[in-house]
Amino acid sequence: MKISVDRSQCYGSAECAHRAPAVFAFEDGYGVVHPGAAQAAAVDPRLREEVREAAEKCPSQAIVLTEREE
Ligand code: SF4
Repeated sequence: MKISVDRSQCYGSAECAHRAPAVFAFEDGYGVVHPGAAQAAAVDPRLREEVREAAEKCPSQAIVLTEREE
């Protein structure tokens, strides 16, 4: 799973960082993906579910998930 935040869409609600703090942080007004988070989510189904929920609930649909191994 590849996880990224499209900064041109993100308006900085910080919901992703609250919903999945192991994966997302909030920096400089944007949601960002922690280094290594995609690898962690690849082996942890619970984390993967958190990521999916964060992407689904992002108010601007700025979280992009790609279902392929890196
Ligand atoms: S939930 Fe979406 S809009 Fe809010 S900070 Fe995260 S990526 Fe940006």
